[in-house]
Amino acid sequence: MSNSTKYIFVTGGVTSSLGKGIISASLAKLLQARGYSTTIQKLDPYINIDPGTLNPYEHGECFVTDDGAETDLDLGHYERFLNVPTSQANNVTTGRIYQAVVEKERRGDYLGKTVQVIPHITDEIKGRIQLLAQDGKFDIIVTEIGGTVGDIESLPYIEAVRQMLWEYENDCIVIHLTLVPYLSAAGELKTKPTQHSVKQMMEFGVQPDILCCRTEHELDLNLRRKIAKFCNVSMNAVIEAKDAESIYDVPILMQAEELDKVVLEKLGLPKKASPNLSNWKTFLEKLKNPTTEVSIGLVGKYVELKDSYKSISEAFIHAGVSNEARVNVRWIHSESLTKQNIDKELRELDGILVAPGFGTRGISGKIEAVHYARIHNIPFFGICLGMQCAVIEFARNVLGMDDAHTTEISEDTNFPVISMMEEQKKISNFGGTMRLGAYKCQLKPKAKSTSAYGSENISERHRHRFEFNNAYLTQFEKAGMKATGKNPETGLVEVVEIPSHPWFVGVQFHPEYKSTVAKPHPLFVAFVDAAIKSKKQ
Ligand code: GLN
Repeated sequence: MSNSTKYIFVTGGVTSSLGKGIISASLAKLLQARGYSTTIQKLDPYINIDPGTLNPYEHGECFVTDDGAETDLDLGHYERFLNVPTSQANNVTTGRIYQAVVEKERRGDYLGKTVQVIPHITDEIKGRIQLLAQDGKFDIIVTEIGGTVGDIESLPYIEAVRQMLWEYENDCIVIHLTLVPYLSAAGELKTKPTQHSVKQMMEFGVQPDILCCRTEHELDLNLRRKIAKFCNVSMNAVIEAKDAESIYDVPILMQAEELDKVVLEKLGLPKKASPNLSNWKTFLEKLKNPTTEVSIGLVGKYVELKDSYKSISEAFIHAGVSNEARVNVRWIHSESLTKQNIDKELRELDGILVAPGFGTRGISGKIEAVHYARIHNIPFFGICLGMQCAVIEFARNVLGMDDAHTTEISEDTNFPVISMMEEQKKISNFGGTMRLGAYKCQLKPKAKSTSAYGSENISERHRHRFEFNNAYLTQFEKAGMKATGKNPETGLVEVVEIPSHPWFVGVQFHPEYKSTVAKPHPLFVAFVDAAIKSKKQ
């Protein structure tokens, strides 16, 4: 481990969903704003190798990094807050840890020893934590441990933290997130769950340095004193984490609680300049004072669980701020859209986004939504499967290819306008056939996407198996749907547009993964702008 790297471990107690990801991202933001290069890592105690094969109903959206890692959605928050890309090393699951240990065992790396949770699994965990310190790029690494302390599956992680505290005591601290619930019958905030949670940590040999207390009401001095005294932490290390109006308020709330200062003190690091958050505050100011509003329909099949489209909904918040507009996202279930009800469902919208996805469910509703947007000149944005639906719709209704489809859904269609490339067909391992991560794309001059980006050379992240079938490209272009973006190496179509429509853009990649507070995504910004203009008309 490099001498200079410092580690902050963030654990959670009492209950799940306390918002460890947002607290971690907010703290990292404050440290970054003080001039420390900071990254965040998430350790997930489940046995899947990565969330790539998980149903979004389980853990929400699967976030994709530049290097093609399929990761937990918290990495999206990290990137949106810090504006620094993450990588495979920033998300590790128990499955991946065990896979690595078992592979080493098979190779004979353990020289005949009995392979055990301690030390082999815990060593592998420590190795993954320290991996991010290797090239000395980061001063501080924030490691968020998924799950709740006391869960069987979290135990090896807490043990790895205990060992690191013992080995590098001056370079590590632990922040424990707990809940201070309000009992309305008693009219009181209760500290006992926090005390129990800390006690549990101490049973595992870990004394938290700082407590972030999630609460719906203010923690007064008496309460703070009580928590400090019974949980063995200093008074200034009891941090109130009150419910916030927006996740983007949390860095400011944490700054008011001086979380960053206490952290630096405990790590023995100089405080440097006080954090410059002026851009962040301008963002919040605009977020809270929009001058106009638009309604955008998000047509998808997981709309009951909004976390399934987390990056898209956050990208709309960023793009809204850029346009000084409130974007009201209307969640529309693709399965419930039919020719009969579509006018009623979509009539009021200023823009329509058709979401990414896999499989048959809801596909016909998505195609209907594209059709509605295209013929009514409503700004349309199709992402991944949404772009593929735009291609299918155009083939069927403009080119007269009746049963045009993607071979993902109809293998024996007469018009496979979306299909799988030969090279991909050979890779059979599920999870291994996808085009994942960042690929270059060359845009055509004068396209709407080009003017949005202000550049003809871009790079965006992918996560899909199927592609536009170039055998049909000439027919599409003649009829008015243009390939305005292509992969410069393979010639694969990455962007389609209909120039005669006010704003109709479909992208094979996922722009939402790259939208951050500091850099709202240009395509989302342009789409919201088009929606505002369409509303005015
Ligand atoms: N199911 C489509 C494919 O695999 C689209 C994937 C997506 O929308 N991410 O190509």
